[in-house]
Amino acid sequence: MSSCLFCSIVSGDVPAKIIRDDERTLAFRDINPQAPVHVLVIPKDHHANLSEASTDPELLAAMAKTAHEVAIDEGIATSGFRVVFNTGPDAGQTVFHVHAHLLGGRGLGWPPG
Ligand code: AMP
Ligand code: ZN
Repeated sequence: MSSCLFCSIVSGDVPAKIIRDDERTLAFRDINPQAPVHVLVIPKDHHANLSEASTDPELLAAMAKTAHEVAIDEGIATSGFRVVFNTGPDAGQTVFHVHAHLLGGRGLGWPPG
C-alpha cells in the first residue's frame, strides 16, 4: 500500500533504525520511545491491524518469534518485556499497518493507561 508509512519503511523509501530483517518481518526502533527498549515488529505484507493479520496465524507466530529474538538481543529477555498490539480507536492505534510494540528495560506499570 503506497500511502502506508510502514510499507514505506519496508520498501526503504522512509528511513528507520532497522535492527532485524527476515523473510516475513522487520523490527525497527520506535521514533518516540516510551521505554529504554521500544522496538516495533511488523510484517512485510500489509495488514491494517491485528484483526486482519489474524487470518494468517503463521505470520503472527513469525512476529512473536522476532519479538522474542529482539528481546534476547536487547538484553531484556530475562528481566522481562511487554508486547502490545494497539488495535482500534480505544487503544490509540495511529499507524494502520499492524505492529507489535516490544517494550522493556524498565519496570512497566499495570494496568496500562
Ligand atoms: P500505534 O499508536 O500503536 O499505532 O503506534 C505507532 C507507533 O509508531 C508510535 O509509537 C510511533 O512513535 C511510531 N512511529 C511513527 N512513525 C514512525 C517512524 N517513522 N519510525 C519509527 N516509528 C514510528
Ligand atoms: Zn502497510
